[in-house]
Amino acid sequence: MRAELLQAMLAIAESRRPASDLDLWWAENSSEVEAAFGRGVYLRISQRGFIGLGQALEKLEVEFHRSDTHCQGCGEPQFFALSGKTTREEIIEFGRRCKLKGAREFEASGWIHPGQYCPNGCTFALYNLGSMRLKG
Ligand SMILES: [Zn+2]
Repeated sequence: MRAELLQAMLAIAESRRPASDLDLWWAENSSEVEAAFGRGVYLRISQRGFIGLGQALEKLEVEFHRSDTHCQGCGEPQFFALSGKTTREEIIEFGRRCKLKGAREFEASGWIHPGQYCPNGCTFALYNLGSMRLKG
């Protein structure tokens, strides 16, 4: 049981399984997790969701690798805006579903600074184009 629980926890923490599965999985397995891993692990996941899951695995000293294409805050797949590759339609569509402050501007303008963005608005990283512009 312990190994099975750990497999599921790892799959979600490493984004091999959608983070949106966590709530349902937790509803069904939280008491088993508490029995197998203790109150501290139970509380971390209960109170902090996806972030707490990562903290719980660290506390258990289980090695895992976070995805670099998913948000570290909520586990959702990030939107990648690549210059010359991402289309106006993709940006508008993302602006519509993104909860980031200022996302209405993406939708209205069809433009976004190149970078990676969480649709839930918890994290974003802008790509630095400065070095490419120094000469121009
Ligand atoms: Zn997020």
